[in-house]
Amino acid sequence: MSTPTERIVIHQTGGPEVLLCESSTLPDPGPDEIVVEHAAIGLNYIDVYFRTGLYPAPSGIPFTPGHEGAGKVVAIGAEVDTVAVGDRVAYVGPLGSYARHRIIKAAIAVKLPDAISDESGAAMMLKGMTARYLLRKSFPVSEGKIALFHAAAGGVGLIAGQWMKHLGVTAIGTAGSDEKCALAKQHGYTHCINYQTQNFAEEVAKLTDGGNCDVVYDSVGKSTFMGSLDCLKPFGTFVSFGNASGPVEAFDLGLLSQKGSLYITRPTLFAHIATRAMLEETAGDLIDVVTSGAVTIPVSQRFALKDAAEAHRALEARATTGATILLPNT
Ligand code: NDP
Repeated sequence: MSTPTERIVIHQTGGPEVLLCESSTLPDPGPDEIVVEHAAIGLNYIDVYFRTGLYPAPSGIPFTPGHEGAGKVVAIGAEVDTVAVGDRVAYVGPLGSYARHRIIKAAIAVKLPDAISDESGAAMMLKGMTARYLLRKSFPVSEGKIALFHAAAGGVGLIAGQWMKHLGVTAIGTAGSDEKCALAKQHGYTHCINYQTQNFAEEVAKLTDGGNCDVVYDSVGKSTFMGSLDCLKPFGTFVSFGNASGPVEAFDLGLLSQKGSLYITRPTLFAHIATRAMLEETAGDLIDVVTSGAVTIPVSQRFALKDAAEAHRALEARATTGATILLPNT
């Protein structure tokens, strides 16, 4: 029995206008698969990279974008025993979440506790598990450490700020307006620098009495790379995890010795949740900090699924804060 549904399809990469809403039918799930009826779908900056073609879709064109969603399980394959029809789940997975329904492997579904809404589930899995691996794996921060986190008022940024506060870290954020800085400070950042009007490296030096940071978490990329290296202590770690302003350009490795024997890593969430055990550890930690109230999931923008293009325009125009979700039922 195939299910009629709708999804966003990209037939050619390009601007937001390439996001087209189409009707389709969903086949039955395979033996280890489930069908999720989305209540909400998470929008992430990585969706922009796939839409523009910066990251090529592994299955080629056409493709349905999106890696994250939450909703109800409405069908399961013959071998699935980890979730049941009617369970509420959230997931991060391969491309294809911009859809009313989708099929995923049961192994990537995480059951949502009653305390976490579908909207929070859709907004937190990719961004929150990213914050978790950045702060616990890429460079594990703890009380007394000083961290610089760029784009602090964004989806990952607002979660990371609260989590760093919970861990006792001095968190310095950067953001593109004074309003965004105020929001970041309400979400755990000790300080926030408006990097549109101030030289963030000079401000970091002032805030740390010249001592600088143990770690810089940088998802902005091209425009912040060089300044970020200047914000690090000797032996500090630069974690590059995104390219919102464009990819970091090729550079001379010798810079790392000149600036104090620095470390650089370029991680991705998918490597950190590659096995079920890794997913359970990462998602479990996230669910714990959210259910305890230490971290809230700010959903600041909601768009109808069919208006995905409008959502992309807002994200790229730096007009969003916190998380943005797409809703199939509006
Ligand atoms: P955000 O909500 O943080 O949106 C991106 C933000 O980047 C903007 O709001 C803007 O904030 C800032 N920015 C700086 N320069 C530019 C520019 N030239 N164009 C557009 N935005 C710019 O997005 P997400 O929370 O979804 O993701 C944050 C980052 O983390 C992204 O770069 C994403 O790719 C990366 N990421 C990486 C993962 C990984 O595993 N490697 C996983 C998840 C996310 P402001 O105006 O304050 O500067």
